[in-house]
Amino acid sequence: MSGLYLHIPFCRKACTYCDFHFSTSLDAQDRVLDAMRKELADRAGGSGDAAVGTIYFGGGTPSLIPAARIAAFIQQARALFRVDADAEITLEANPDDITPERLDAWKAAGITRISLGTQSFREDRLKWMGRAHNTAHASRASIAAIARAGFASWTIDLIYGLPEMTLAEWDEQLTIALDHGMPHLSAYGLTVEPRTALAHQVAKGLVSPGDDEAQSAQFDRLMERMKVAGLTHYEISNFGREGHFSRHNTSYWNGTHYLGIGPSAHSFNGNVRRWNVSNNQRYLVSVEGGTAFSEMETLTPSQRTNELLLTGLRTQWGVDLDALPLDVRMVNERTIVSYHDRGMLERHGARLVLTERGRHFADRIAMDLFVTE
Ligand code: SF4
Repeated sequence: MSGLYLHIPFCRKACTYCDFHFSTSLDAQDRVLDAMRKELADRAGGSGDAAVGTIYFGGGTPSLIPAARIAAFIQQARALFRVDADAEITLEANPDDITPERLDAWKAAGITRISLGTQSFREDRLKWMGRAHNTAHASRASIAAIARAGFASWTIDLIYGLPEMTLAEWDEQLTIALDHGMPHLSAYGLTVEPRTALAHQVAKGLVSPGDDEAQSAQFDRLMERMKVAGLTHYEISNFGREGHFSRHNTSYWNGTHYLGIGPSAHSFNGNVRRWNVSNNQRYLVSVEGGTAFSEMETLTPSQRTNELLLTGLRTQWGVDLDALPLDVRMVNERTIVSYHDRGMLERHGARLVLTERGRHFADRIAMDLFVTE
């Protein structure tokens, strides 16, 4: 095992586009967090001196819970596993939770990296997304406080492809972000996920779903601006300076093993994928009562191959065809050649790497290379 993920399933407000698991009811917060500590202890049983290189507090909104809880999880992980001395320990935080006191407490707890859910520097956009924070929170002050706090690294999230977003607006967002001197940026094109408030609004014709061509132009501008600013495009949605790439997320894309704790969290041990129930009440009652709260499946060689294609092609390192469980070239050589000839795919020995043009179609290309049993 290399990565430990803790899913903190609470948010102050529901963002309209979000399909992560969370609850805005905080009543059961203590019981859920206690259940997570129990799950962590139970799952660690037998893993003995397993090494942990990264710990990631995701959600939900981890910055919503007391810093003492974060510290207790880290201490527990250190007691249960062999956590590397230089482990990357990330906390996702929302701008409205940033105070100098909290930053100090997180740092003292062992957090080494803050991932800030900025999303936009514009008031109208934050309102439209249903975010709990406003531009005052997302402003220079909170980001500057993180930069000053002395974490090993930090990153901000931005969303593009919003309805009627112009290139000028996106450029302005990137300029503000770059002015903050961030060492890492995660930028996501808005997608309308099923069963979200946004999907409901789109279905009723209340909002427009956004424009694919405009989003594609904004992705080009994003790549261009980050290149000029010296940030490496190391994964479709992620840009970082040397030494600031997310080690935790990179391990997902490389197929490294990880343990996920908390409602909806996923785990993977190389062959078996397990996922916990996405319901806080059912999770805590099952953990407390010692009954089942997760399902699992053993991945077939073709499922493993296809997952590695999907995640690997999204990265700057691409995918090593010689390292896949099944040989994709046996059945899909013509597809590879076709994408290569159209300037979307490069071949470096047995490694396939997307070009800038190919990055617009990463998932489509990966799916065209999928193999069946
Ligand atoms: S804060 Fe994050 S997890 Fe919570 S609803 Fe908004 S996008 Fe989803």
